[in-house]
Amino acid sequence: MYCEFIAERGQRTGGTTRVARWHVVRQDQHAALCGQVLAHDAETVPIADPHAIVQGGVCPACWNRYRSLP
Ligand SMILES: [Zn+2]
Repeated sequence: MYCEFIAERGQRTGGTTRVARWHVVRQDQHAALCGQVLAHDAETVPIADPHAIVQGGVCPACWNRYRSLP
């Protein structure tokens, strides 16, 4: 099963939108593992590349569920 990180956008300041939090979403679903629905055009990062996340943190609920996936 392929998952990826997807950005939850936070406050918008001066034309740039910061990333509030990164959720984990399955490729074939719209909702994150924690149940939150993110914008379909939100930025994504490959699950295998967590070092690409430089802003915001990973949603702990999503991460726990991802770690417990079979
Ligand atoms: Zn989440």
